[in-house]
Amino acid sequence: MEQIIAGKTVTEWENAFPLMSRIMDTKEVFWENPNVVATADLPEDKEVTMEDILEAEALFTRFAPFIRRVFPETEMTQGQIESPFKHVSHMKQMLEDTFSGTVPGDIWLKCDNELAIAGSIKARGGFYEILAYAEKLAIDNGMLLQEDNYEKLANDAFQSFFSNYSIAVGSTGNLGLSIGIISAKLGFHVTVHMSKDAKEWKKSLLRKHGVVVEEHEGDFSEAVDQGRNQCQRTSNCYFVDDEDSRHLFLGYAVAALRLKRQIQANHLSVNEQHPLVVYLPCGVGGGPSGVAFGLKKIFGDNVYCYFAEPTHSPSVLLGLMTGRFHEIAVQDFGIDNLTAADGLAVGRPSRYALDKVKHIVNGVYTIDDHMLYRLLYLLHEAEGIKLEPSALAGMYGPKQWMNKAEPPFGLEAHHVVWATGGNLVPEQDMESYIQYGKQCMEDK
Ligand SMILES: *Cc1c(COP(=O)(O)O)cnc(C)c1O
Repeated sequence: MEQIIAGKTVTEWENAFPLMSRIMDTKEVFWENPNVVATADLPEDKEVTMEDILEAEALFTRFAPFIRRVFPETEMTQGQIESPFKHVSHMKQMLEDTFSGTVPGDIWLKCDNELAIAGSIKARGGFYEILAYAEKLAIDNGMLLQEDNYEKLANDAFQSFFSNYSIAVGSTGNLGLSIGIISAKLGFHVTVHMSKDAKEWKKSLLRKHGVVVEEHEGDFSEAVDQGRNQCQRTSNCYFVDDEDSRHLFLGYAVAALRLKRQIQANHLSVNEQHPLVVYLPCGVGGGPSGVAFGLKKIFGDNVYCYFAEPTHSPSVLLGLMTGRFHEIAVQDFGIDNLTAADGLAVGRPSRYALDKVKHIVNGVYTIDDHMLYRLLYLLHEAEGIKLEPSALAGMYGPKQWMNKAEPPFGLEAHHVVWATGGNLVPEQDMESYIQYGKQCMEDK
């Protein structure tokens, strides 16, 4: 008898969704979301409003004096953590030469690989959730007012107060880095539950910061489950739940406010003829969904958002396409969830994130690991920019239109590739990624 997955046989799934067999064969696909709704017709989301996103940004501003004090690398930006936005014309040329086609518009890179302290997009959601928790604890205990200068959170009194509390998180690596470093700096006890994908250097870096690292044999979902269970049995333990977190989501959404200002500073006009087309590497879905949600609030129908997943970890694609969200894992369909894109190695998506973007995200495409490395090499050649493999998934976005008849947007679009991580990768590892990418180019 055929195996049943969420109520259907594989054959029934294949009949219902023409892309299913290619996805199961871990071939690259491009899925257009048939459930996208025009901005004017979107049901109002009362749970996350524009005011909430503005308040989330205000929280980051309150904490800037603290960040500046304890992380001297943020001195230049006065404790503000934000990444550059760069025009990458050489990369556009490189893509067009390599893949023999034309990109309909210009290409910009949102360099979250340069985000201070964590070196990845996880600085947004991760820092926000921990800072919001710390603020609430301090205010509830009468130690802090929102009007105070938060620099005082670096003082011993706060360090010893926060040491009564612990924080836990499950991660493939980068969320652990972000949560671990900021929590330890505040004085919390922090435990990071790492999946088997996590790189050794990420674990040792965390241990250097005084973080307890627990290694698990299973994948991301199992690390999250074990972390959540262990935390529930510990008193005063707060679990950062990457599968279901409004706080992470809000932190990511703040990126949209910041990007809007950078777009204005670069005198880019965004309108029907010149929309933004944004490509977001996607793991559990929280980061890309938060960013897409914020961008939609600001740019409405003039922004198109696409998520990018490895061919071996298409969890958000399966969740959105089938409408079954987190009820389905890639392993149910015989897909192994093994990929060099460690930040995207997630088999089961976030219920919270998918519910938020089901009518917003324009589509999802998948990318083969070798292609990630090729793009890694090409970006380094063209622009001298070094990203970790996961972060290249977005760079495959502009390529999607080269061999397609008619893109759904104007031909003078601004393509925004979200570079989600890379700055903390040790030099030797980066060198071997680049060399491997070069080899993948030659093997092609
Ligand atoms: C976590 C991560 C992502 C995706 O974020 P999710 O919230 O897991 O979807 C993308 N790129 C990098 C480098 C990451 O670490």
